[in-house]
Amino acid sequence: MKLVDAHVHLSDTEYVGHVDELIADAKNASVAALITNSMDLKTCQNDIILVNRFPDLIYPALGIHPWNVNVLRENELEETLEFITMNRTVVKAIGEIGLDYKYETVWEKQMMVFDKMLHLAENLNLPVIIHSRGTTDKIVEMLPSYNVKRVLLHWFSYPITALIKAVDNGYFITEGPPVTYSSGIREVVEKVPLTNFLTETDGPVKYYKRPYAGQMTKPSFIRSVIEAVAEIKKMQVEEVAEQVIRNFENFFEIKLG
Ligand SMILES: [Zn+2]
Repeated sequence: MKLVDAHVHLSDTEYVGHVDELIADAKNASVAALITNSMDLKTCQNDIILVNRFPDLIYPALGIHPWNVNVLRENELEETLEFITMNRTVVKAIGEIGLDYKYETVWEKQMMVFDKMLHLAENLNLPVIIHSRGTTDKIVEMLPSYNVKRVLLHWFSYPITALIKAVDNGYFITEGPPVTYSSGIREVVEKVPLTNFLTETDGPVKYYKRPYAGQMTKPSFIRSVIEAVAEIKKMQVEEVAEQVIRNFENFFEIKLG
């Protein structure tokens, strides 16, 4: 049974010194592809190094995360746009980008960076991976004014009304380990058509519930996510895994061997 992690941060400082271990874990668990999401210029550059080391396993989503807009160096935004454009042939999506209500103090800057990233996705004809904590309604409302190829709302949590709109627009969502214990996330999975669904770990984010507690977040966690989705959807585990692989191939235009 093949699995995919459509949202992880392999260049995060918490994973330094652990990448080989993560790759071995992924291979061992039949995880056929990982989409590594950058946060700023430095992680964009490091993600490209990782992609060159593991070209048939790791694929990059490059962008600037809303948490980083406050600490951008002078010219970092322009340099990041340029770096992503230069690497267009290997880049599979623009991400992780978005808006976060907890960082409202830099709201205007968040909006400016998000707008630049969406225009980049338009120009490069790439899908987008979006962080929308507390801002899902706003984002689902603003996206139709951009000509973005495909949209993935990562770790979608609420509100269900925005989920319905997102699905109507053909957007995808990802969910990870919380699907095994969070009633809110289980409700989202129940409501979302499986054709609009992908799996993620969002590593190195840590999960404090069993069976993940005390562990470094690893690609092999995806298996338990698929099993939980199969239980919610009352489907066979293999059937869910196969649909997720098809979704992944269509969304990112990556053919898995
Ligand atoms: Zn993330």
